[in-house]
Amino acid sequence: MKILSNSGDSHNMEPPNLYSDGLPKALAERMPRSVKSADGGSETIYVDGRSFSRDLPKISTIKGKNGLTLTEALRAPGSEDMTTRRTDLDQEGIWAELIYPSVGLWNSMITDPVLAREAVKVANDWAVDIQHQNIRHVMPAQISPLDVDDAVAEVSRTASLGLKAVNLPCSTPEGFPDFNRPYWEPLWSVMEEAGMVIAVHTGVSGDEAVHFRGPGAGTVNYLWASYSGMTMAAFMVASGVLDRHPNLKLVISEAGATWVPFVGDRLNEAYRQHSDFIRDNLTRLPKEILYDQVYATFQHDESAVAALTGMGYNNVMWGSDYPHLEGTFGHTQKTLHELFDDQPAEVRHRITQGAFLELFPHVGSSPLEGKE
Ligand code: MN
Repeated sequence: MKILSNSGDSHNMEPPNLYSDGLPKALAERMPRSVKSADGGSETIYVDGRSFSRDLPKISTIKGKNGLTLTEALRAPGSEDMTTRRTDLDQEGIWAELIYPSVGLWNSMITDPVLAREAVKVANDWAVDIQHQNIRHVMPAQISPLDVDDAVAEVSRTASLGLKAVNLPCSTPEGFPDFNRPYWEPLWSVMEEAGMVIAVHTGVSGDEAVHFRGPGAGTVNYLWASYSGMTMAAFMVASGVLDRHPNLKLVISEAGATWVPFVGDRLNEAYRQHSDFIRDNLTRLPKEILYDQVYATFQHDESAVAALTGMGYNNVMWGSDYPHLEGTFGHTQKTLHELFDDQPAEVRHRITQGAFLELFPHVGSSPLEGKE
């Protein structure tokens, strides 16, 4: 039996000429771009005068743990073409996806408010086109994290064009007010009114991708990258943003799910035992807010299902991370069967479909439901 699922963590690739076609030349050449080294062994990402380099995986014919060579795993057939993508999705058993940008994830490194404001308009018009191609593609809007008025205007504009989520970075650029500051209050209000979900993907800035070096660093960097999402969620709870906006929902993608009960416990203890020292005034305990309004996605984590079944956290959501190396392309069904074969149908349904449908009810059920 094929287990059908939605994905709360997917990606697609912007067209290479998106910004050169859509922006004046002086702005376009400052947008994020990747330049591969002559030997193909590394790439340098340039963003508005700054850059960072990282090693690229070597081309190999050795099959990895997922049965694919690295090259195959990195280049799912539909990674750059939406029609082929839908064939991939059908084969894997995936219906709707929350699709993060790729190059656009580096937009959080832009520090010029004008560049940020103009770039996201171009990216969002493209996102609207993709979403209109097919209801399965849920494309989050991008906003400038450098000016709240620009951000509010873009949320209103994209909501009126049909987008259902807003992609925020885990933190604001250095020197700009953090998301827990009152400065951002108008943004939370407009998103709540428009029914826009806050979609946050972990591990995107240069510092996060390559934070440690030396033995073990490659593996530990992947763990490090998830901390920023946890901290973002904790701030949105503890600062009262989610408490003041009870209809605002936040999804943290690719940081796993079992951290939510853990972080809830830490925040509750601090809120309760340190109440003489902290000034936060919430109407509900932090863990309750976290459990109610924060959703968390995972791909393979063996412990994630137990966050729901053993720890009462209902907003566990599966994500494929298509078409990335950490994702499940080529072994989605194997992964889903390993996760859910021993689970009751309602647990499987909640994690694979229910939590996603709560955020994005407009996608409906897969037409394959009941047929495969
Ligand atoms: Mn991802």
